[in-house]
This record gives sequence, structure tokens and C-alpha cells, in this order.
Amino acid sequence: MLIILLGPPGAGKGTQAERLVHKYRLVYIATGDILRGAIKSGSALGQQARQYMEQGQLVPDDVVVGIVNERLLEPDCEGGALLDGFPRTVVQARALDQVLAAMDKPLDRVVHISVNEEELIARLTGRRVCRECGATYHTKFNPPRVRNVCDQCGGELYQREDDSLATVTERLAVYRKQTEPLIEYYRQQDLLSTINGNQEIEQIFTQICAILDAME
Ligand code: ADP
Ligand code: ADP
Ligand code: ZN
Repeated sequence: MLIILLGPPGAGKGTQAERLVHKYRLVYIATGDILRGAIKSGSALGQQARQYMEQGQLVPDDVVVGIVNERLLEPDCEGGALLDGFPRTVVQARALDQVLAAMDKPLDRVVHISVNEEELIARLTGRRVCRECGATYHTKFNPPRVRNVCDQCGGELYQREDDSLATVTERLAVYRKQTEPLIEYYRQQDLLSTINGNQEIEQIFTQICAILDAME
């Protein structure tokens, strides 16, 4: 099973992905996480990506396509994978189609989580992420049991640099211009399922599971 989670920054893709990869035993491929890991490790990839990410711009298509292509070829992806944050442009989506065709693997479904802009800003500016395991929280909407401590691993929570209000505004503009066309792209391929993301985390999860279960 190969699934894409599509939606604006703050829609809840990472939050749903945590639950989905567990339930369906999928390999989790989040390009944002991979890029942040590269920055942390000081690799050449990280140096290439850093400026774009700090400014809320997209990293060049060839860079992210290369990352995802390599990852999908690893043997653990045989059992299925969940893509979060990729593709983000029509160029990336076309490249993914080619990568999958070469591997003779179908794309099973694109789950689009739709959330209004005011809510997205509130979600992103209150987001906290675990430094150790990447689990996602929100100061108000999804707080950890102990302030600034990850429920799952005890790691320290931090605020992403690009979750400041100024960068969030830019990222939402980038989404509208560069990523939103993918909704039509996948609708035309008859792969799109849209979920109302302005609901409780558990309600959204139940609805995504119903879509995936109906596919099997
Ligand atoms: P969010 O979860 O808020 O949507 P991500 O963690 O997915 O954010 O992405 C953070 C940043 O990483 C993006 O703003 C962009 O700079 C970069 N990035 C992640 N995925 C891609 C991609 N597929 N194409 C280009 N840039 C990407
Ligand atoms: P994305 O990966 O799409 O950028 P996240 O999963 O990181 O989004 O969620 C963004 C923020 O919103 C996080 O702080 C998360 O805890 C919170 N959040 C996620 N889903 C919901 C929801 N359904 N209702 C309220 N807050 C949510
Ligand atoms: Zn953790």
C-alpha cells in the first residue's frame, strides 16, 4: 500500500501519520523530517536545504525527488509506505509517477486533509515537536502530559524555527501557489479523498482508516 498525505502546513499530516504507520505497518517517509535531520547532522544535503527551509520556501525539486526515490528503493518499503509532505509541486508529482512506474508499483490513494487558514495559523504557532522521536504536540490542542516532555519517549519538546508567525504566513502562501494544484492533479487520476481536517484528531483518524480499509 502506497499512500500520500496531502494538505497545507499544520493540517495534521504528521499527527495522523504517526497513527497510520502504526496501524497499517507502513514505512513513514516525511521529507521535512529527513531534511531537518540532514541539517542537524551538518551534511551537504542539510547545507543545501537550510536557507530555503528557514525562509519557508520549498527546497528544489531535484533534491527532494532524489531523496524520496532512494528511500522508496530500500527493501523495507516493499510492505508499503506513507508519504508525508511529498510531493509538493506538480513537477515532484510527475517525477513520483515515473519512479513508481519504474518500480512497477501503483499509488493507491491520496488523502487530502483540508483545514481553514485561521485554524492552520493557530495550529502551527502552537506546535511543539519532540527532539528525540519527532512526535508532534500542541500547547493547547494536543498537550503532552508533562509540559515540554514527550509522552512517548521522555524527550524534550521544542518549537520549530519555521513555525514563527512570519514564516508560517509565507509557507501558507507557498502552499497555495505551488502545492494546491496537486489536488486537481490527483483528482484527475481518480486517487483523491478529501477529509475535513477541522475536526478532532481521533475523528479524522477514523475517517482516514475507513478510506484505507475500503481499499483493501
Ligand atoms: P509541515 O509539516 O509544516 O507541512 P514539513 O516538515 O513537511 O512542514 O516541511 C518543512 C520544510 O521542508 C518546508 O517548508 C520546505 O522548506 C521543506 N520541504 C519538505 N518537504 C518538501 C518537498 N517535498 N519539497 C520541497 N521542500 C520540502
Ligand atoms: P502537518 O504535519 O500537516 O504540518 P501536524 O500534524 O504537525 O501538521 O499538526 C500541526 C499542529 O496542529 C500540531 O501542533 C498538532 O498537535 C496540531 N493538530 C493536529 N491535528 C489537530 C486537530 N485535528 N485539531 C487540533 N490540533 C491539531
Ligand atoms: Zn519523543
